[in-house]
Amino acid sequence: MEKYKQKYNDSSKGIISKICRMKNKIVKNLGNNRMVNSIQTGIARDEFTLFYQPEYNLESNEIIGVEALVRWISPEKGMIPPDAFIPLAEKTNIIYELERMIICKALEQKKLWEQEDLGHIELSINLSSRSIDSEDNFKIIEDIISSYKVNYKTIIFEITESVVIANIDLALERINRLRKYGIRFALDDFGTGYSSLTHLLKLPIDIIKIDKSFIRSIPYCSEETSITKNILTMAHDLRFKVVAEGIETLAQLEYLRKNSCEGGQGFLLCIPLSSERVVDVLKARASIVG
Ligand code: C2E
Ligand code: MG
Ligand code: MG
Repeated sequence: MEKYKQKYNDSSKGIISKICRMKNKIVKNLGNNRMVNSIQTGIARDEFTLFYQPEYNLESNEIIGVEALVRWISPEKGMIPPDAFIPLAEKTNIIYELERMIICKALEQKKLWEQEDLGHIELSINLSSRSIDSEDNFKIIEDIISSYKVNYKTIIFEITESVVIANIDLALERINRLRKYGIRFALDDFGTGYSSLTHLLKLPIDIIKIDKSFIRSIPYCSEETSITKNILTMAHDLRFKVVAEGIETLAQLEYLRKNSCEGGQGFLLCIPLSSERVVDVLKARASIVG
């Protein structure tokens, strides 16, 4: 009898935990669906905006460009950072709509800056890991790009290693289609994925952006510091330009300069700014340089 009781208890525990898991999944899906719906509403209400973080030439200290970083200004929740909605949007097709809107806004802004004659400004736009997976979507992105007659040589698309690794031949085909315009490509968050030299050599990438997790530990953690040094040496040998992200201290800046890192971004140099504020920074630069 005891044996049967035990067996009954075990199997009912199993069923209960299965029901709990199902319930959690349903609650999570409901939450996700709600989020996707509110992204959709946010797009319709034009609640997404781009901030711009200047990128510097570490040798001359001059601003060479800006990176567009999306922000969701929700009337209910305030400013929502991209990490809170991009990964979820990427799980559904809403990412296509979001991304097109981001590219349109970024290129519209770039066109205005070119008309204002603010000097040489490179504009980096982050591409989602989903951008390249659908030919229909990619064709629309291409059409958007060709409709904005900006100086394409100053446009950089940032892609992550995961995009490349998922399908290297597809990535190669898509990258080459945009390179025909003169657009350049950067490998973002470098060091966090599993890119090997073989991957890098196969791809027409111009710039490598060292992930901030490596920069954070410079110069105190010897492992991360030596990884950064090795990335710089390897990248230079292969003739890539290197940009370090997440520079927060003078010690990090000095280390990167000493090791010939060409470009840098980080809170020490400038935080991401609204389009109105970044234009002031760019104008101030234009008056010093020009
Ligand atoms: P990312 O492209 O690597 O962008 C750099 C992130 O580091 C930005 O966060 C920026 O605000 C932050 N950052 C800059 N300097 C520092 C620093 O000194 N210290 C620290 N701790 N952080 C710094 P943000 O804006 O929250 O963006 C996070 C990620 O979301 C981006 O990483 C990118 O992967 C994605 N993302 C942002 N905007 C877009 C977009 O328009 N489209 C797509 N597809 N993804 C985007
Ligand atoms: Mg980026
Ligand atoms: Mg990055």
